[in-house]
Amino acid sequence: MALADGATAAPRPQPDSDDVTWIEPPLCPECGISVRIYPTNYDRWVSLAMVELPAKDVPEPFRWRLTRLPDPSPISTDIAAVRVRGIDPLPGDPVVPAHRMMCVPEWGEP
Ligand SMILES: [Zn+2]
Repeated sequence: MALADGATAAPRPQPDSDDVTWIEPPLCPECGISVRIYPTNYDRWVSLAMVELPAKDVPEPFRWRLTRLPDPSPISTDIAAVRVRGIDPLPGDPVVPAHRMMCVPEWGEP
């Protein structure tokens, strides 16, 4: 039992690798759909949908965009998720919807 020291998370793919692609996409615990989990620029993690949608199809609170961080950051990836806010994307601009927007149990009405 190696539960000491808080080392309880799933094993990291490859420490010190600059390739942080997930081999197996994580699954949403609510609906079981594959999601992409990215760090945000404010130290939280967010589940995003696997696909991009035009901004007109995504309500403003769910719009995210993936941004490549210019500098090495404390987090082990150089891609961060940034909320699209304050900006007014064109209706056809691709944005990445938060998975919450399409999580089935949330919208589980027949
Ligand atoms: Zn879900």
